[in-house]
Amino acid sequence: MEEHSIVESVLDNLPVAVFAKDVAGDFRFVLWNKKQEEVTTLPAAKALGSNDYDLFSQESADYFRSVDKAVIRRGKLMKVPEEIIETKNGREVHLRTVKIPVHDKETGRLLVVGISEDITEQFKSREQLEQLNLHLVATNKELQETQMQLIQAEKLESIGRLAAGVAHEVKNPLALLLLGVDYLSQGIDPDDENVATILDQMRGAVDRADRIVRGLVDFSSQRALSREATELRRVIDEVLILIKHELTLSNTRVTVKIDKDLPLVFLDMSKFEQVLINLIINAVHAMAGSDSRHLEILARADSLEDVAKNEGARSREVFRSGDRVVILEIIDNGCGIAPSDAGRLFDPFFTTKATGLGTGLGLSVARRIVELHGGELTLRNRTRERGAIARLVLPTKLGTGKVRTTTREAKEIDTSSG
Ligand code: ADP
Repeated sequence: MEEHSIVESVLDNLPVAVFAKDVAGDFRFVLWNKKQEEVTTLPAAKALGSNDYDLFSQESADYFRSVDKAVIRRGKLMKVPEEIIETKNGREVHLRTVKIPVHDKETGRLLVVGISEDITEQFKSREQLEQLNLHLVATNKELQETQMQLIQAEKLESIGRLAAGVAHEVKNPLALLLLGVDYLSQGIDPDDENVATILDQMRGAVDRADRIVRGLVDFSSQRALSREATELRRVIDEVLILIKHELTLSNTRVTVKIDKDLPLVFLDMSKFEQVLINLIINAVHAMAGSDSRHLEILARADSLEDVAKNEGARSREVFRSGDRVVILEIIDNGCGIAPSDAGRLFDPFFTTKATGLGTGLGLSVARRIVELHGGELTLRNRTRERGAIARLVLPTKLGTGKVRTTTREAKEIDTSSG
């Protein structure tokens, strides 16, 4: 009797929960120490004589029973690295349990004895650690991206400086050359076809060099904009008049859809016209091989949440959440963008066009101008139909433009192209 009470005292003072179930007696509890009372918040008086189904949810009881049966079947100790019980007051307790089959010599009964360690705190710290780790990984990624953006921005800055220098040096000799060519062409022998052809080629070459120089000047030009509240429809109409010739010549059908009550946008009219002309001319070039060329220009108002939801989170970097924006899309049914080019479209001097047709500066200049307006410009393939979409997101408030050169563009275009 005395020994029994010693065992009981020891059991009740153990820092681990101990219980025993009588296998033949429908797995009813025959032992339930103090720590077990604590972790389950169930008193021994209630637990003894009950089984798991009386005390826990059906799901938990099913699980405990399946482990108990496995312990009996195998006839040896089993470790349950982590099990969760939900106490009556809704608290989740995480336990690490060892279950052992025990033959009670005195009564001849087969018991399943369980010893559980409460690892709730450890679990919580592990969870917190995992969260922290996730946070750390995300911060690290952000840092890397920012670093890449800085490198890219710096690269662009130095290209800009170089471009300004080259442009300055090359502009005057070019003008002289052109004057020379014009002068010479007046005095040539009209019967000598060769000279006329050569002079034409020279004039063409000088023209092309001049265009590149002007592109470079644009690219490296001052960042000052003169913005005023503008109706987007007005800009689009003017641009369409300016390039009417190209559109007619290429037999391009144009559809313009602009939402009624579109908010005003703050634009530097002439710089923004240049952006639209670049984008539309690119679209016309891309549609050169199409049977029926269709250019769509769509403009609508949106709030930034919806833009981010529908188009990915990139906009969040430039705008503040909730900002009212105007989305302008220039959609073509042309050749689209090859996946291998997607990441380079906005690189200065990247062009897939034949010599003489493109300088590869259009998109980089356009993006720079749009970003100076506090907006963003992306170009990607349409998802279902053939062709590409140039999308501009423009702020409807006058703020300081934030220049962002994104290295993330490549990934975004890659995933959306197809
Ligand atoms: P350029 O027009 O002088 O080549 P850009 O910077 O304007 O220079 O364009 C770079 C490249 O992007 C083009 O050469 C073309 O390959 C691609 N591109 C631009 N717009 C489109 C479009 N609408 N559809 C398909 N590809 C395009």
